[in-house]
Amino acid sequence: MELGITEERWQAIINNDATYDQQFFYAVKTTGIFCRPSCKSKPPRWGNVRIFEQASEAIREEFRPCKRCKPTGQRLPDREWVAQMTQYIDSHYTEKLSLAHLADMCHGSPYHLHRTFKRIKEMTPVEYIQQKRLDKAKELLAQSNKSIAAISTEVGMPNTPYFITLFKKTTGSTPSEYRQLHLKQ
Ligand SMILES: [Zn+2]
Repeated sequence: MELGITEERWQAIINNDATYDQQFFYAVKTTGIFCRPSCKSKPPRWGNVRIFEQASEAIREEFRPCKRCKPTGQRLPDREWVAQMTQYIDSHYTEKLSLAHLADMCHGSPYHLHRTFKRIKEMTPVEYIQQKRLDKAKELLAQSNKSIAAISTEVGMPNTPYFITLFKKTTGSTPSEYRQLHLKQ
């Protein structure tokens, strides 16, 4: 049955209290997702929460189970969670992509996401995003005549001086030098 949101349940949600995991599930109206109380996802707003006793009741109301805390079954192993983050970065690295946004999309706190990612991939999410951007920039430098500014924007780094600095620091040459060495005629 659907339960009300009480102060006690609310505290369990915002403190990710696992001792309540057998007692209820909470669904968030704005995202359409439901979670266990212990889920490390971003705390919802009080007014957007619905509380269910059973996962099946949330599903009947057309909420989807959270991929992070898997309220209908086993918890998501960290390796799979990191694979989700990687996948998200791979398809969004050309956009503005902050750790906070990534954490929202992958349902975890920025701190927890950063640590888990680093443990499994041996680099931080931010380093991984930069690597993706620089790899793409190298490809564009070697295969196109686009300007350095256009390339830096295209790979998600609209601040061109910063892009040049990071490129040089990582590869040992400036984007122009790199292009001279690698441009296919
Ligand atoms: Zn969750």
